[in-house]
Amino acid sequence: MNIYNTLHRKKEKFQALHPPLVGLYVCGPTVYGDAHLGHARPAISFDVLFRYLKHQGYKVRYVRNITDVGHLENDADEGEDKIGKKARLEELEPMEIVQFYLNRYHQAMDLLNVLPPSIEPHASGHVIEQIVLVEDLLKSGYAYESAGSVYFDVEKYNADHHYGILSGRNIEDMLGSGRSLDGQAEKRNNIDFALWKKASPEHIMRWPSPWSEGFPGWHLECTAMSKKYLGECFDIHGGGMDLVFPHHECEIAQSVASTGKESVRYWMHNNMITINGQKMGKSLGNFITLQDFFEGTHELLTQAYSPMCTRFFILQAHYRSTLDFSNEALQASEKGLERLMEAYRSIDKLPTSLEQTQDIASLKSKCYDAMDDDLNTPIVLSHLFEAARIINSSVAGQMQLSQENKEELKDLFDIFLLELLGLNDSHKRGDASYESFSKAVDMLLNMRMEAKENKDWATSDKIRKELTSFGFEIKDSKDGFEWKLSK
Ligand code: ZN
Repeated sequence: MNIYNTLHRKKEKFQALHPPLVGLYVCGPTVYGDAHLGHARPAISFDVLFRYLKHQGYKVRYVRNITDVGHLENDADEGEDKIGKKARLEELEPMEIVQFYLNRYHQAMDLLNVLPPSIEPHASGHVIEQIVLVEDLLKSGYAYESAGSVYFDVEKYNADHHYGILSGRNIEDMLGSGRSLDGQAEKRNNIDFALWKKASPEHIMRWPSPWSEGFPGWHLECTAMSKKYLGECFDIHGGGMDLVFPHHECEIAQSVASTGKESVRYWMHNNMITINGQKMGKSLGNFITLQDFFEGTHELLTQAYSPMCTRFFILQAHYRSTLDFSNEALQASEKGLERLMEAYRSIDKLPTSLEQTQDIASLKSKCYDAMDDDLNTPIVLSHLFEAARIINSSVAGQMQLSQENKEELKDLFDIFLLELLGLNDSHKRGDASYESFSKAVDMLLNMRMEAKENKDWATSDKIRKELTSFGFEIKDSKDGFEWKLSK
């Protein structure tokens, strides 16, 4: 299903329906450990969507939640809270765990050039909203209380609506295949899911409620927080494909049961990242964190990969395709990114001819077509490689470009490579500010060239001398200049 294209083609109607704002909600991380490649993929995929919607003139309210309570081990209704467990093992407050890993998550996202969302609500900061939602669900008759906990009555809901509408499952199969687990005696049916859980004596994270001292069920937070910040109906809900069932299926059931309508107009799910064809998992020993990638510290890595190389690697596959990690694929990404950045850096130094020689405008419109085709980033990259080929031919003297061509090429890279795909040169220095830094040095050296042309030797010498004293090596070349930092 081509969700974005539908959305884009209906732009006029879409804007008329929701003039002020596009609401975008993406399920964020449960912060009890370092982010890994599987966290980078939704963050980067929906970052590109966020950037593109803004580029197209939409106002976007992008909400990406932080799960800091209620997500139990094995994504189940019974067991220890993932954060509570880490807090117990580390002898820390649960919120110390949350803050520690959230800070590290933000650092990794900054390095990956993922823009911060408009709102980043915490589940633990919205327990009141979640309790109100449970009360609404009880009133609607689709929830029941049992021994201090509250469960969603899936069978009753399915009699009036369709549980399984998103995942394509049907309730008969689910009822047949359900395992009966400890503690499920409280439930009318093993497929019912928890809305509120009474805390066992050893459970650390707990809040008072009308039913018991306890904590909200994992699926509840997204329904409560999306409603609070985006309203009862909003435009796009995203997340990883592993969340389709049960998490998003439960979100649909909760909103239909509490408000009578589906809250989400378009669902978008990114596919998974595999490692040598296998699913990532702690037990498989192939759980590579982003930090490992950036520092090359995991045994499966033959080298470190910069954040920008990692971003490129993710964008060279369509977000709905599976993506398999291998060192070879990452090394190819590193080369591909460098090839594009080098072409981008050469544009200003290209010799100019008077004639218009290349149809860059059609490359640009093909890039827009690819973005409109459900964010087809690999196709956008292939067009940018075509632009790089044109630039390299001109560098090699095989082809000439007009001033207009050069400006069009610059514009093409500025929009698609830098602004929308969010790629830049920072992989060379490992910090996201490198691009601005590099532009400032270029600007000074361009001023020096102007000074030389005007025979203003004092200014030209001063710029060269001072930059050298800051550690830059500057070389005059036939077409201008080259520079690098010598330390
Ligand atoms: Zn969610």
